[in-house]
Amino acid sequence: MIVAIDGPSGTGKSSTSKAVAAKLGLSYLDTGAQYRAMTWWMLSNGVDVNDAAEVATAAHKPTIVSGTDPAAPTITVDGADATGPIRTQEVTAAVSAVSAVPEVRARLVELQRSAAAAAPNGIVVEGRDIGTTVLPDATLKVFLTASAEARAARRNGELKGKEAADLAATQAALAKRDAADSGRKTSPLAKADDAIEVDTTDLTLDQVIECIVTLIEEKRAAR
Ligand code: C5P
Repeated sequence: MIVAIDGPSGTGKSSTSKAVAAKLGLSYLDTGAQYRAMTWWMLSNGVDVNDAAEVATAAHKPTIVSGTDPAAPTITVDGADATGPIRTQEVTAAVSAVSAVPEVRARLVELQRSAAAAAPNGIVVEGRDIGTTVLPDATLKVFLTASAEARAARRNGELKGKEAADLAATQAALAKRDAADSGRKTSPLAKADDAIEVDTTDLTLDQVIECIVTLIEEKRAAR
């Protein structure tokens, strides 16, 4: 059972994917965390993230390892815990430039396919290009969407204190990242033709989880 969950930022991909995986005894992989980990390594090692050639040359250097237990997902870079550092504004602002570099994508897509192949009972993989590129034969493909206002409000709820104060700034930052992710040449953010689109604007997290669990059960019953 391979479940691909794609969509723009702030649609609830992570919370939904983790909960669905935990409920059904599947592994879980956050591919955005891997792009963030790569970006954190680049920033920490003096690589100019806006120089695609420099990023490409360095892309093979960090060792990125993701733990796929949905109850306690982990990510390390060269053995160091990267869970906190990958969520900083600095990484968030730089990640789209790094993830647009083909050498970075080739490296991480390979890790993602290995994780899916190694999952004993199946896996929920979340990202931007899982259904289109990483796992085109996934059993179920879901594309989550939500209005720009709802996405910004959710993202602000996740940020703390000063960072969360300005809703308009959050909305603008999300729009900028989504435009970059959708507009890049190599496997942009896109809905696969055979993905089921779920608009989460007016749904609670529990409703979205329920909806995807039902879709998976339908797939299981049909096999
Ligand atoms: O999901 P998250 O917001 O943490 O993803 C961070 C960034 O990683 C995205 O904005 C995008 O640039 C990149 N990404 C990607 N392909 C994926 C997952 C994430 O390019 N499959």
